[in-house]
Amino acid sequence: VDESVKEDMKRLEDTFPGISDRFRLVNRIGEGTFSTVYKAEDLLYNHYRNDWDAFQEAQEDNWAAPPSKRRRLSAGDRQSMPTKRRQPRYVAVKKIYVTSSPLRIQNELELLHDLRGCKSVCPLITAFRHQDQVVAVLPYFPHSDFRIQYRTFLVADMRHYFRSLFTALVSVHKHNILHRDIKPTNFLYNPDLREGVLVDFGLAEREGSEYTGTCLCVNPSHVRRNRILGSYYSTNSTSVLANGYPKNDSRPSRRANRAGTRGFRAPEVLFKCTSQTTKIDMWSAGVILLTLLGRRFPFFNSADDVDAMIEMASIFGTQRMKAAAALHGQIFESNIPTIGDKGYNWEKLIKWASCVEDLTESEKQATRLLAGLMELDPSKRLSAREALEHEFFTKPKD
Ligand code: ADP
Ligand code: MG
Repeated sequence: VDESVKEDMKRLEDTFPGISDRFRLVNRIGEGTFSTVYKAEDLLYNHYRNDWDAFQEAQEDNWAAPPSKRRRLSAGDRQSMPTKRRQPRYVAVKKIYVTSSPLRIQNELELLHDLRGCKSVCPLITAFRHQDQVVAVLPYFPHSDFRIQYRTFLVADMRHYFRSLFTALVSVHKHNILHRDIKPTNFLYNPDLREGVLVDFGLAEREGSEYTGTCLCVNPSHVRRNRILGSYYSTNSTSVLANGYPKNDSRPSRRANRAGTRGFRAPEVLFKCTSQTTKIDMWSAGVILLTLLGRRFPFFNSADDVDAMIEMASIFGTQRMKAAAALHGQIFESNIPTIGDKGYNWEKLIKWASCVEDLTESEKQATRLLAGLMELDPSKRLSAREALEHEFFTKPKD
């Protein structure tokens, strides 16, 4: 372990009284905008090295190896795999930055508490506070690094990955919770178990909690009023106007929750829909599938929302983008020459992105699933439950 990481862990142990009585920090495993996550050993765990620990270590060594040296588990291996233990020996200690608002921290812990017991959602073991510092403790879940794994993912792997992700989303959405930040680093996938867990409810919210007025997309009778109030996006070939409001416009700008990660934001988030639903998570899941099928990570690489809209428009074409914007009372305009009227179909796009001539039958199935997820109109987009019933899962062709 790096010296600076050791110092960082020592600092947490020193500033947080009592934490070292219960946990021994082992390593730093994640550093994000809102938190630092450490792997730690639970000292109250009764010590004897059992199969499960050895197995976890072997797994991680295997995934870290270059693809040619990596071993795939056989069916026999899987059968002899130790089953999950009740009390994990290793935990993930999530130190939430003191700059996060107390409400935000409370929200994350509360939602995690509501979701305890949901399959494929990482459970919260406990949380501690000392002064302004809060740490959340979760079972440590060994997972592969998506940035290494995505290139070697077979369609069968995608099936396991998404079956697990959609299982998590069925429960989350059943609780009327939007995760808002579905992306590979927030879904920890274990290729040997063929399962993953959903983490990071830092941006999650209850459906309808950010209420700033009904969006046109759920109440079409607001047509006239919203059209007049709708903001105006304008783009052109030389410069992109981030905020193309007409001059002398005294109308208030529309407020909508836009939290999430660039490249994974659903079109309705970009169009500032004020009635966002759990479908925004399904779009983001679609972006992960697109990454895997197209074998390009990240697939979208926009710097801001206007850029993101341009990327989206390059795929969907202006006609469909205009219709999508209109759903939320917005106007989409672009005169960028590379953006066509009609856009591309998914099969063509994936063949181009992954540089293959033809797609296999199972890749075609996955592509049809992708089309259902990356559907611009949220009301027509597949829900998590519908996605699990898709032919990709129920009638696999490989
Ligand atoms: P942030 O809000 O900073 O993004 P996350 O909850 O997403 O925090 O955690 C950041 C990273 O820490 C994750 O991407 C993952 O690599 C690691 N991590 C988080 N929870 C666990 C866990 N339970 N087991 C193993 N690693 C974890
Ligand atoms: Mg995260």
